[in-house]
Parts: sequence; C-alpha cells; structure tokens
Amino acid sequence: MEGLKRAILKRGKIYPNNLLKVDSFINHQIDPELMQEIGKEFAHYFEKYQPTKVVTIESSGIAPALMAALSLQVPLVFAKKTLPSTLMKDDVYSADVFSFTKNVVSKVVISQSLLDKEERILIIDDFLANGEAVLGLKKIIEQAGASVCGVGILIEKSFQSGRGKLEEAGLDVYSLARVQSIENGEVTFLA
Ligand code: 5GP
Repeated sequence: MEGLKRAILKRGKIYPNNLLKVDSFINHQIDPELMQEIGKEFAHYFEKYQPTKVVTIESSGIAPALMAALSLQVPLVFAKKTLPSTLMKDDVYSADVFSFTKNVVSKVVISQSLLDKEERILIIDDFLANGEAVLGLKKIIEQAGASVCGVGILIEKSFQSGRGKLEEAGLDVYSLARVQSIENGEVTFLA
C-alpha cells in the first residue's frame, strides 16, 4: 500500500536490532486517515473469506484492526496482556507469546465468552517479525473451536522468519508493506 510505504519512509525511525519505530503514526500517535485507508484495504482483500470477527493483540494492533472490523461490519476482539480482574483463569483462552521487542514471554488472554465455535477469524497486527504474536493468537482461536481465515499485517519484516512460519501453517498472509531490509539507516521494500 503506497500510502503506508510513504509514511514509513517519511516518518519511520530505525533503531538497533532492525527495529522500526512508527510511533508518530501507528502505535503511539495514530494517523486516523491512514488507519481508515488500511482498514478498507484489508476489508477489500479479506471479504472473500467472509470473516465473522477481527482479532488482534493490545495495544498496537487495535487501531488498524478496528478500522478493518468497521469496513467488514464485524466485531473486533483484542487479546489482553494481563488477566482482567473481572475474569477468572478458567474463563479465558490463553497462549504464551514471546515478545520480539521486549524479549520476554507473556501470557495473552481472550475471554471465552467472546469467541464462538465455527467462527472465521481475521487476525490483524501492526508488525510481523518472527510470527510469535500471530501464532499465539491462532492457538487461542483454535482453543475456541474457531478458525483463522486470514492474517493482515501492516509492516512485514520479510527478512525474518514470520511469513515462512505462517505460510507453513497454511495461513493467507496479506502484508501492506513488505520490508526487504533495514540497512545503513535505510528501509528497502520488496517490489
Ligand atoms: P513477532 O511476534 O512476529 O515476532 O513480532 C511482532 C510483534 O512484535 C508485533 O506485535 C509488534 O508489536 C512487535 N514488533 C516486531 N518488530 C517490530 C518493529 O520493528 N517495531 C515495532 N514497533 N514493533 C515490532
């Protein structure tokens, strides 16, 4: 998606360990118009699967996932990184997710009351690096007896292992910007 690529080149910042900082337009300050465009693009691509729900992880995935859900006219559920005080351990589906940016494993949870058997779930996330976040969500969704009908990613770091793992798991991965390399202070996209 050209608008997203332009924003990455203009507003993204490169940090050590191939980290891309996008907090001026995606995950701290949010650009609403860009998010709306992103939501429409995901809806356009994934409507063929007739998703019944969009699922993401708090907090960076929520803005684009909400816009995709709005365009698809389905609810959005986001996995929480801490167990809410209103839920007991037995009331949630959960999975351990290794965080690429924080270097820690955390348990993410979704209330069992929010996912039904037979649902077709579209997963949305801001970044795809090694695929841990998406595979964790897939585990949760399958615990509910639902299935993943697609994975929408804003920024795929194609030089990492995530896409390979998700494709191996049989998932249709649609990334709006595929980064080939982050070298010498420069982001290069796959064609
Ligand atoms: P994965 O689980 O695929 O290894 O990594 C994806 C998760 O790590 C995303 O949910 C995102 O929050 C975070 N992440 C991975 N790479 C980057 C990056 O370059 N910049 C930022 N801001 N987050 C990243």
